[in-house]
Parts: sequence; C-alpha cells; structure tokens
Amino acid sequence: MEPTACTANGGTPYPGICPDADNSQCCKSGTLPTVPSSKPINTMLTGLADILRGAGLNVVEEEGWKTRGHSVMSSVKGIVVHHTAGPATGEYPSLKIVRDGRSDLPGPLSQLGLGRSGTWYVIAAGKSYHAGSTKDDTLFGNANAIGIEAEGTGLPADNSSHKNWPEVQWQSYVRGVKALQAAYGVPTSNVLGHKEAAVPAGRKIDPNFSMDEFRAALG
Ligand SMILES: [Zn+2]
Repeated sequence: MEPTACTANGGTPYPGICPDADNSQCCKSGTLPTVPSSKPINTMLTGLADILRGAGLNVVEEEGWKTRGHSVMSSVKGIVVHHTAGPATGEYPSLKIVRDGRSDLPGPLSQLGLGRSGTWYVIAAGKSYHAGSTKDDTLFGNANAIGIEAEGTGLPADNSSHKNWPEVQWQSYVRGVKALQAAYGVPTSNVLGHKEAAVPAGRKIDPNFSMDEFRAALG
C-alpha cells in the first residue's frame, strides 16, 4: 500500500517489518510497534558485511548473499556458535556446503562463516538451517538466531579453553560476535554454542571450545 493511501485509511506507514525489500513500508493500523531499527523484524540481514567490516574484520562477501536464505529472518534474538567439523586443512573448505547445503539439507546452512585466518565469509542474509530444534526456538531457532559456522575439525572434542583453535580465528570469532551483538541488541546470555542450544541435550557437540570462556571474552 502506498504511504499516502495508508495514512488516508487511518494507518501508519512503517518501514522494516515487511517480508520483502527493506526499503518498503507496511501499513500498520493503530499504534506503531516499539521496534528499534537495530532489531530486525521479518527482513533480510543485509547489513552483516558492513557490521563486521565496521569492527575492523576482514570480510569476504559471497556473491548473491543478500538474497540468499530460506525466506526472511523473523528477528535476531540469539546468536548460535558452531564449528564445521570440516577438513583438517584449508582456509574455509566448508564454504560450498555451508552455502549450498547437503543432499539431506538445502543451503544456506548459516549466514556467516569464519575461516582459519580469522576472515569472515558472508554467505546469506536470510534464514539459514543451522540450529535444528533448540531449547527455545523463539531465541535460538533458525528464524530468530544468526548462525556462524567456524572452520574446524571439532577434534579433539575437548570443551576446555580454546587451545585447539588458532588464536587469530578465536580472537576474530569474539570480535565478530561482539559486533553483531551491538548491531542487533543481542545480550551475551543469548549467545550460545550449538551444544548448549540443541535439544535433546547431547545432540550436538559444537563448538569444541569453552562457551563460558567465549562469553566471558564478549564482556
Ligand atoms: Zn552446529
């Protein structure tokens, strides 16, 4: 509906809540929803690359990422931290699987990837299939949580410290998640490892570092 037609009918044109182009406006009757612009609702997360670059991180944008996804994100209330369980060598050898999916699960499998060098790969702006069933899908489900697949074998499956991860990758992981939290207003308590969010308990083991240490680093 055109903004003028909306107003004429007693509604209020409101941007950012439509499941289409993020410059379009919806006609909302009654009072406006109290949604700050930093809390995306039913939209593609087209700001991801700029958010990470703004934190001084090295970013590679995968062609087509701004329109890639299983429809829009309902919101961003959580961030779920993963490892790829991919090959033992290479910068981001899991890119194709994360972008395109597997025979049993279509891609994208996460919005973001993190290579061993600490470089971020922006893969999708829409909903991505990374979380599966979680203990609270309104916070950690695919429609409401950003997924990050960091390259790592996941071995050994040792959850203490981050000693099995390249320091540069670990530091970049922390810095990037901090930037996403600030941009979308996600509290540190809503940053979970997949192993913490997934149900039933024990369904997932990633990431194989201490999430308590990770959250402590987020501040
Ligand atoms: Zn995972």
